Amino acid sequence: KQWVYRFGGGAAQGRAQDTALLGGKGANLAEMASLGLPVPPGMTITTEACLWYFSHGKCLPDEMKEQVLEALAEMERLTGRNFGAITKPLLLSVRSGARASMPGMMDTVLNLGLNDETVQALGHDAGDARFAWDSYRRFIQMYADVVMGLDHEVFEEILEDEKARLGHDYDTELSAVEWQHVVALYKQAIEEELGEAFPQDCHTQLWRAIAAVFSSWNNPRAVTYRTLHKIPQNWGTAVNVQAMVFGNLGSTSATGVAFTRNPSTGEKRLYGEFLVNAQGEDVVAGIRTPQSLTEEGRLASGSDKPSMEKLMPEAFAEFKAICEKLESHYGDMQDVEFTVERGKLWMLQTRAGKRTTRAAMKIAVDLVDEGVITEEQAICRIDPASLDQLLHPTIDPRVERVILGSGLPASPGAASGEIVFTAEDAVEAEAEGRKVVLVRIETSPEDIHGMHVAEAILTTRGGMTSHAAVVARGMGIPCVVGAGGLRVDLRNEVLIGPGFTLKRGELVTVDGSSGQLLKGEVPMVQPELSGDFGRLMAWADAARRMGVRTNADTPQDARAARSYGAEGIGLCRTEHMFFEGARIHVMREMILAENEAGRRAALDKLLPMQRSDFIELFTIMSGLPVTIRLLDPPLHEFLPKTQQEIEEVAAAMEMEPAQLSRRVEALHEFNPMLGHRGCRLAISYPEIAQMQARAIFEAAAAAAKETGAPVELEIMVPLVGLRSELDYVKACIDEVAADVSRETGLPIGYLAGTMIELPRAALRAHVIAETAEFFSFGTNDLTQTTFGISRDDAASFIPTYQRKGIIEQDPFISLDFDGVGELIGLAAERGRKTRADLKLGICGEHGGDPASIRFCEEVGLNYVSCSPFRVPIARLAAAQAAI
Ligand code: PEP
Ligand code: MG
Repeated sequence: KQWVYRFGGGAAQGRAQDTALLGGKGANLAEMASLGLPVPPGMTITTEACLWYFSHGKCLPDEMKEQVLEALAEMERLTGRNFGAITKPLLLSVRSGARASMPGMMDTVLNLGLNDETVQALGHDAGDARFAWDSYRRFIQMYADVVMGLDHEVFEEILEDEKARLGHDYDTELSAVEWQHVVALYKQAIEEELGEAFPQDCHTQLWRAIAAVFSSWNNPRAVTYRTLHKIPQNWGTAVNVQAMVFGNLGSTSATGVAFTRNPSTGEKRLYGEFLVNAQGEDVVAGIRTPQSLTEEGRLASGSDKPSMEKLMPEAFAEFKAICEKLESHYGDMQDVEFTVERGKLWMLQTRAGKRTTRAAMKIAVDLVDEGVITEEQAICRIDPASLDQLLHPTIDPRVERVILGSGLPASPGAASGEIVFTAEDAVEAEAEGRKVVLVRIETSPEDIHGMHVAEAILTTRGGMTSHAAVVARGMGIPCVVGAGGLRVDLRNEVLIGPGFTLKRGELVTVDGSSGQLLKGEVPMVQPELSGDFGRLMAWADAARRMGVRTNADTPQDARAARSYGAEGIGLCRTEHMFFEGARIHVMREMILAENEAGRRAALDKLLPMQRSDFIELFTIMSGLPVTIRLLDPPLHEFLPKTQQEIEEVAAAMEMEPAQLSRRVEALHEFNPMLGHRGCRLAISYPEIAQMQARAIFEAAAAAAKETGAPVELEIMVPLVGLRSELDYVKACIDEVAADVSRETGLPIGYLAGTMIELPRAALRAHVIAETAEFFSFGTNDLTQTTFGISRDDAASFIPTYQRKGIIEQDPFISLDFDGVGELIGLAAERGRKTRADLKLGICGEHGGDPASIRFCEEVGLNYVSCSPFRVPIARLAAAQAAI
């Protein structure tokens, strides 16, 4: 079995598409090597080896070890260096590399292969003993931490003590001899703490490092990260063992990261940062603020530190050409890492760069214009759920900004919240329903849970590629990094700036688009949805088969949904119209009436209110289908609850409060969700359905007159389980239609249909379709009734189910394809058998969930309907499902 894939010297055994086996990093290293790019030679140990390791008591397969040694021999040949040798020693980096990017979650060991002897040889080779001893102490520290499990703080303390003793402020002031002494102290500390010596044998170092990197797949923060990002826990990681190159060999050496286009805006400009005389981790760690790669970038940032373009023109020119080559080869924006060792450029990584949604849009559209990808490919490049980001508000340009500080605009959008200084505080505040801005000196993977719940993030250190910046962009959270004019005092929990001090809990606004921190909570505006967004959505609209409608109950919702591209209303929950203002009183009168006459009196008052609402909805949706659902919810939702409410309602109804209380009690239900609701109400009180039908038809006639376009009307009956239920209610509606038609002298056209939200309705779809002219799948109730899980109580145990692996997804968010999905498929098929032109749609929450939308496409629904904000998501997801 092949456990190890080699690369380097212009050739490779793997390819870019082998990510499942080689991980993202390994597959792309192989691809770069085979393109003839300068990649330090190395090998990738497969994810299969990692799975084998876990299933065999954390043992490495012997065959794998043999293959590693063969690959190592090849690396020695290519580099002219030898692993563990006392002249020209070969040093290795050992890095994790999973199938999906998990930034900083797993472990890495650098400078492997150093020991008391090879360190001398390295110093001799490099002509720099200080560099060699510094590398050795870094290696010991990393190895002890990752492989031996000794906390790095032990070493930091030793180093701080030494610096104090020697009178040095900075690490850079230590001489070779002084580092040598630090190394001795480090080794001594390991023996004291662990009762075990630091291993001098290079092969032992290697095997243990490989095992440790495999093990890091299952460290707690990696597990959490995978849960958050829905990455399967059983993929395992690959390990990349590669010849070390050094960016810290003096002023002609450097290390950096770059995006081939701006990851924040999408602009087609090489965009990146580097540090002279530094090792890779230094850039990402955000400890020194890095310099711009290009002159243009330097000018834009107002920095006076020279760019790479100026400082290392030859290496820069080669690097730029490689970036262009990579971009056209992959047909996408790349995120690359590189090192310059004494003037020689080495490529260490490439991958599709993380970007903001805005940038993703621009890049996809530009790549189509550049002829690199097709419109369909562009559509598939955008994660539909991420469109949410574009709908994020930005700061109202008309307001005066009180600027407290500024840094780099790392992730766009703006948000306000109270200052917190730790991830724990962020989580705690969020749990209490407060909005927070997480303020840190810099962030690390340990802060992920706090970053996730924050409205915005601010750091005082680090660049555009620092941990905070990368993670915030990925999460779509506004973020400002490197706000150097501000200082975090963690002990006193304050943020100090020129002339002010902000305490924990004070309100601020982070503007991730301008890089500013503003005082207080600032008014926001909704973004424009044109330009690249408009073009991409137009392509999506052309590519999709299903219609996209909206769930809208108010004119506001309907208008917003139209502006987001909704093609009609798939669900108008008429009961929502009754909650507003004084209407609830009339509604209560209706419900609490003791007889039909009382009910009719209240309904007469409700009729004009409903009619005027419908006229407005029909006018906004002129020419588009509108589905109006008859009253659905359990009546108790409208009942007065407090004594005061009871008294008020009693007074309005000229009733004794005690009598009213009795009526309220009589209406009490043990399980209202399965009680007197839906079409059951219309059957008990047909006058309610009659009033609603009249309001609808009169409004349709009025709107048609006003707009000149007939209303495409669909009337929907909720919670039907029996065909006879639907027959009864439909007869009421038809009768009213005939009346209104007679009164107005106009013909009335409409479809009568039903929701499918009970398993019985799905099973009997062929019979129900004899009456129903359309079905709309109410997957909220259908999920509730199929699982027998109360939709209002699910939150108390579904998270536990997920944590314990009982279910993967919350079925109320993403459709349960196997169970609820089977019912939908069956109902669609049976319904269409009876009525070939039966219109099919979905109006449960799932209608806005991309995975569920894909399922709807497969089942052949005519349209999906979702809340207004999700309409763009649904348009794109429907297009992707159709491609
Ligand atoms: C449903 O049940 O999916 C539905 C859309 O109706 P409601 O959420 O109003 O019960
Ligand atoms: Mg329902």
